[in-house]
Amino acid sequence: MNLQALVRPNIWHLTPYSCARQEYSSGHATVFLDANESPYNAPLNRYPDPLQRELKQAVERIKGIPEANTFLGNGSDEAIDLVLRVFCEPGVDNVTAISPTYGMYEVCAHINNVAYRPVTLGAGFSLEAERVLAATDAHTKVIFLCSPNNPTGNTLAREEVDKLLERFTGIVVMDEAYSDFSAQRPYRLDLTAHPNLIVLNTLSKAWASAAIRLGMAFAGEEIIELMNRVKYPYNISLPTQQEALAILGREAQVKEWVQSILAERTRLMAAFARLPICQEVFPTEANFFLTRVDGATRIYRYLIACGIVVRDRSRVELCGNALRITIGTPRENDALLDALKEYKA
Ligand SMILES: *Cc1c(COP(=O)(O)O)cnc(C)c1O
Repeated sequence: MNLQALVRPNIWHLTPYSCARQEYSSGHATVFLDANESPYNAPLNRYPDPLQRELKQAVERIKGIPEANTFLGNGSDEAIDLVLRVFCEPGVDNVTAISPTYGMYEVCAHINNVAYRPVTLGAGFSLEAERVLAATDAHTKVIFLCSPNNPTGNTLAREEVDKLLERFTGIVVMDEAYSDFSAQRPYRLDLTAHPNLIVLNTLSKAWASAAIRLGMAFAGEEIIELMNRVKYPYNISLPTQQEALAILGREAQVKEWVQSILAERTRLMAAFARLPICQEVFPTEANFFLTRVDGATRIYRYLIACGIVVRDRSRVELCGNALRITIGTPRENDALLDALKEYKA
């Protein structure tokens, strides 16, 4: 891979902002008069570590990816935006993605004035690598993939993903926000074999910490260095770094939560399949499932009136009359089933 040919020239030649906490990072100083901070209200008076060393070491213990291959962002959404800003020249370059998928790839592309080329998934929401490749041209810098995919819930066939990794000369982003719920081998473990791969993870789903905003990107060192150059210097607040360390320290608890969600997923999907309004329950490896029903929008509104919010995906490509149901606690799932049993078509 020729990285320089893929990166925007202004980013390749950028001299990044050098912040006080970066210029002085080691040693034994106890008096900090370098950053115009207040000496009061510790620890919130101090700027946080711009490269989040301690947190990255904790991430490495869980995810097995070294610090130098890890970028931490204000949600995965920051990483998605940075990939576009590092690689795509506005008004010139384009990106390709599967459809339907997570909406942020398209929104971030449009914010950056980067053309977005969605490629409709095949039967069973499957990835067809040849059709994705056919949508690319010399200005296609990035392909966005998501597995398990949102909103469909299925994983993409490894064989097809590997075709893209091997034959596409640009960057392949694999968003694995839901990989903790899946039995598939995570793509982050294949990073060394694929220099053009960027894998996204998040604390927002299985790690039950959407409020703190912490996303991860794993990639080759040079790509990580480019993302670090472009990000805001202090992109992860101290409270977020502290809360992230705390939840990463509770891995056993998180695994129990995941097991409970998976057991409930099985129960809820089976119960849905028996509902008269339900036409189809699609296979899933995430903490949600997609279901085709009779009159999705009407059911959606009925559930709102019952105080239950699900996601109406019926206007999304391939998702006519589909609702996306997130797995809740056993009580929440029962509330949903009880409401649907009372529903009159
Ligand atoms: C929920 C979700 C995310 C999480 O984004 P954050 O900004 O980390 O909260 C990322 N990708 C996909 C596909 C998602 O569904």
